[in-house]
Order: sequence, then C-alpha cells, then structure tokens
Amino acid sequence: MKMLRYRVGALVSAPVGSRMVLALEEGPGDLGYGVEVDYLRGEIELVRSDRRLLASGTIATQIHTQCARCLEPVAFPMTFEFEEAFFLSPVDIPGETFYAVTDDGYLFLTAPLREHILLNTPLRVLCRPDCRGLCPECGQNLNEGECGCVREPDPRWAALAAFRLQGE
Ligand SMILES: [Zn+2]
Ligand SMILES: [Zn+2]
Repeated sequence: MKMLRYRVGALVSAPVGSRMVLALEEGPGDLGYGVEVDYLRGEIELVRSDRRLLASGTIATQIHTQCARCLEPVAFPMTFEFEEAFFLSPVDIPGETFYAVTDDGYLFLTAPLREHILLNTPLRVLCRPDCRGLCPECGQNLNEGECGCVREPDPRWAALAAFRLQGE
C-alpha cells in the first residue's frame, strides 16, 4: 500500500472552524505490526481547531488474522469510528504519544488507523462459530476430519451421548 499520507496544508493555514473531508479508498496493504488489510474505505472529516486538527469518521476495513481455535487464516471485516487529534506543531510530553501534522502540511494516518484497528479487533476471532479447532494430541485440524486420536470427550457431548444411549 502506498503511504497513508494526505496533504492538509490548506486546512492548517485556514481559520479555526474550517473543515475538510478526506475520502479514503486504500488497500490492500500492510499497516505494520501484523495488521494487513484488504481495503480501507470511508470518509474522515477534519476540523481546524486552535492547536489541532480534529479528525473523525467511519472506516470500513477487512483484516487478515487467524482463527483462535484452528489457526487457519481468516478475513475479518469490521467498521469502526475513527477519532483522533493531530497537533499543528509537535508536542513533547514525556510518556505520551501525540500525532502531529508534519511541518510541510501532511497527515500520516497509518499509525492511528492501525491503532484503531487493533483496538477494534476481538481477542478471539473464529473462522466460523462452530470451529472444531485442532486435536490437542496430534494437531490435526478437526474441521477437515477426524484424526483417530482417542480424546477425552467434551463433558457437554458426554451428557448427550449418555442420553442417546438410553434412547437406543
Ligand atoms: Zn477455525
Ligand atoms: Zn489427533
């Protein structure tokens, strides 16, 4: 993906209260730190405030991750609200991270978008709600078939099996 870099110099030199809309139609690409997206789409409105540009908008994306049970790759679509502030001049407060507009009037959105995506990604993404996961003995993907290992039955299924036995 090309850098998510947008020219906002006109807004920086505009009066407080001025607005600008960035239309995002990007991807596929790699945002770093393992965040790979098929696309990034949406609109971000920027408002010039006293010391910052205030950004807000709704972004749709689809990331690549892996199933928490079977570890197969999964494409996970999501829509999230993007809210961020970009200082007009760099600020230095120890221990805090701030985003700023570059001196030559550009906004870099890769890091803040990546942060929003990570915050909006569930800890456990599944390839499908009933994913059977991997065999704890041999590692076989049980969605693809039984492996033949003898496994301790899941107590939920054990109860069901007992019930079936009675009915026979
Ligand atoms: Zn799975
Ligand atoms: Zn097995």
